[in-house]
Amino acid sequence: MAQSPSIWNFGHNIALKPSAYYEPRDENELLDILNRHPGEQIRAIGSLHSWSAAPACEGVVICLKHLQQCHFPAEHAGEEVTVGAGCQIKTLLEYLRRHGKTLPSVGLITEQTIAGAISTGTHGSGRHSLSHYVEAVRVARFDQATGKAFIEQIDSGEVLQAARCSLGCLGIILAVRIRCRDLYRIEEHWREHADIDAALAAEKEFPLQQLFLVPWRWTLLAQHRRESSAPRSRLAGLYRVYWFLCIDLGMHLLLILAARWLQSASLVRLLLRSLIPAAVIRGWKVTDESSAMLVMKHELFRHIETEIFIEARHLPAALAHFREVLTVAADVPESRGFRSAMTTAETEALEALRGTYCHHYPICVRRVLADDTLISMAAGKETIWYTISLISYARPTDRQGFQLVATYLMKTMADKFQARPHWGKWLSLPPQSLVSLYPHFPTFRDTCQSRDPAGVFRNAWLSSLMDDQPCRR
Ligand SMILES: Cc1cc2nc3c(=O)[nH]c(=O)nc-3n(C[C@H](O)[C@H](O)[C@H](O)COP(=O)(O)OP(=O)(O)OC[C@H]3O[C@@H](n4cnc5c(N)ncnc54)[C@H](O)[C@@H]3O)c2cc1C
Repeated sequence: MAQSPSIWNFGHNIALKPSAYYEPRDENELLDILNRHPGEQIRAIGSLHSWSAAPACEGVVICLKHLQQCHFPAEHAGEEVTVGAGCQIKTLLEYLRRHGKTLPSVGLITEQTIAGAISTGTHGSGRHSLSHYVEAVRVARFDQATGKAFIEQIDSGEVLQAARCSLGCLGIILAVRIRCRDLYRIEEHWREHADIDAALAAEKEFPLQQLFLVPWRWTLLAQHRRESSAPRSRLAGLYRVYWFLCIDLGMHLLLILAARWLQSASLVRLLLRSLIPAAVIRGWKVTDESSAMLVMKHELFRHIETEIFIEARHLPAALAHFREVLTVAADVPESRGFRSAMTTAETEALEALRGTYCHHYPICVRRVLADDTLISMAAGKETIWYTISLISYARPTDRQGFQLVATYLMKTMADKFQARPHWGKWLSLPPQSLVSLYPHFPTFRDTCQSRDPAGVFRNAWLSSLMDDQPCRR
């Protein structure tokens, strides 16, 4: 056991204060640890790249970083891979690449562990979230009859749907069996669209595209993407260098300078209206391996993010709402007609935001297909979902403006469009409102309570979602 005063997440907005901290080397050691702490609050952590309270813990914290073996199970040769819970996505992708395989979907970064990524429904654009592709989960929990820890394999039925995205509530995940596919390449180019309808029209041709609504310019920069059988472009390496220097480093450093260090709203607006869009080269078609194309170095600079999921039919109205709220928050003139659609209470709440926050980062819009899970954000309906994200690079001590605006947006988007916030990103909806967005939450709650009636694998926030008392530390 290692002593650890406080452990911070990536965003420095959540501090874990463990009573005990462990890094077990194998499954037997993990079972011994669980048996030493019966009835205490126990949470597993991955890379702590969540901004929500999902990994928070004041009891026993277990890091699974030593459990990272990968292998192809014989009975599903080449179609599925079994991977240790603490294996980072980048390590898994490298293992798969050596065998001519890759994952069906990845998020913008690959720092997360596989268990952490599936536990909050991590997603990319144009496909399901990673949770959807999970075929089996190996979990350690307590046997109710003996009180001893044991390991079970979950591979079918509603409990598998729960385990695919479980927020750590079903026990400690030891390994995940997930679908994989042959390596593939993606062709990508950038184009600017004046409005969302034009950007969405391109989706038929580019089903893996993602969009960036550029604040203060209010156009959409589209990263048009599709699978391609063409060979890797000759200039793919140059494209990667350009991307790293101009976007991963250059764009971020400029925005951080303007928003975090100078705190200049006018410079932020100038950069986003002209300089940053000008740095995006339109029409340069590049083909490269999917694992290189789909990611960026978003983990380089500390930030905070909130992201909501809405059904496709609400996307245009939702983006208009985002734009108008951000415009009021920055105290610049807003479009006519917006207020007429609001109640007095909404208008008053919006007015309270005036001048509190100037948004300083492109708003990413991604498409996620419906997941076969109980509570991942894209769960439960045969529908297409879109995600809208809000990212702030303000210092952790200067995030009040971002949080006020994100709270307002989260609440109004939930009220108007039943929008669901990402489980792994910053969120502030009250537990009852959050749970009511998921028709299958009662089944999820029953599944968790039947397997962990004492709630040892839940922290205070998760207990509030389950409507029960947090277990003692
Ligand atoms: C820079 C950055 C970029 C991101 N990009 C994306 C993106 O493109 N798409 C997206 O959807 N999300 C994205 N995220 C969010 C991130 O993918 C999720 O928050 C993910 O859950 C983090 O994984 P992790 O390994 O850090 O898990 P943690 O944050 O450590 O934990 C997440 C949850 O998983 C549980 N958990 C972890 N390991 C286990 C285990 N072994 N057993 C049981 N429960 C466990 C924890 O208790 C917690 O509830 C991004 C985050 C950052 C910081």
